Amino acid sequence: MVGTVHRHTGAEDVEEGVGLTALLVAAARAIETHRHDSLARDVYAEHFVRAASACAGWPVRMQQVPDGDANPLWGRFARYFGLRTRVLDDFLLRSTQTHARQVILLGAGLDTRAFRLDWPPGCVVFEIDREGVLAFKRKVLDGLSATPAAARVPIPIDLRDDWVGALADAGFDPAAPSVWLAEGLLFYLTNAAETYLIDTVDRLSTGGSALAFEVKLDKDLLEYRDSPLYTSTKHQIGIDLLNLFAREPRPDSAGALSGKGWSTSVHTPFDFTHRHGRGPMPEPNDALAGNRWVFANKPRP
Ligand code: SAM
Repeated sequence: MVGTVHRHTGAEDVEEGVGLTALLVAAARAIETHRHDSLARDVYAEHFVRAASACAGWPVRMQQVPDGDANPLWGRFARYFGLRTRVLDDFLLRSTQTHARQVILLGAGLDTRAFRLDWPPGCVVFEIDREGVLAFKRKVLDGLSATPAAARVPIPIDLRDDWVGALADAGFDPAAPSVWLAEGLLFYLTNAAETYLIDTVDRLSTGGSALAFEVKLDKDLLEYRDSPLYTSTKHQIGIDLLNLFAREPRPDSAGALSGKGWSTSVHTPFDFTHRHGRGPMPEPNDALAGNRWVFANKPRP
């Protein structure tokens, strides 16, 4: 974090620890892309999965999942990621339709929005994640000769280090409106790191800026440790999400932003399932029950 001398190595590979969760989301996006009723298309996603030896045997389309939609991981959970991708695609495009031209993807992982969305002219997309993750991403995208549809600036840094300095060095202008996204990120940060991140986004955002992020409201995440979603993710692909999540009480980030004058709206994913006519529905022992997608706008002065 800013002011500390210690630098996190940032070297964590995409195929280990929390980096692997970026590949999980990529596999989900690949499956979503090939659905006949897809909510979001990401033609790059399957290439990440295929390039990582840790993902050997993972499906990239539903036909490769023997039990299809009944599979809690590659059915319902993957659809969740598909819906989340679509909703946040729409948020980013909506938010850049007015004045904001700077987009900051916090914990960008294998997000390819810089390549696949139809950005207005003059947009710049900053992608912050650790070095190992962004190096893997570059290798795969270079191999595909992928061309971004906006100016794209990868910033390889750990969010516990001086990412604000790195963002400024990369050309971010705090006097101009910005759009921030923390998709599937805050669960992995400590309470203090989340509070710092939200305060910092507020400090770096001028009026007309927007932020979307995802939180879990559950008081005790372990309440759902036997849920089909967590157990299938652990047993089928060896990712123990509960072990990766920071299991301490969470800050009220939406409330903090409201207190700083932002207008916020908090939605369940199921709100969007209804809106789009497809997506996950609530179920018993549901690890998604506490998930909320928060949208915040900082008013112009
Ligand atoms: N936002 C991307 C998406 O939705 O496709 C990636 C989500 S993935 C579940 C979580 C990402 O957060 C990983 O790419 C991981 O490397 C990144 N991450 C977690 N902790 C981080 C930290 N301290 N600094 C930088 N990135 C971090």
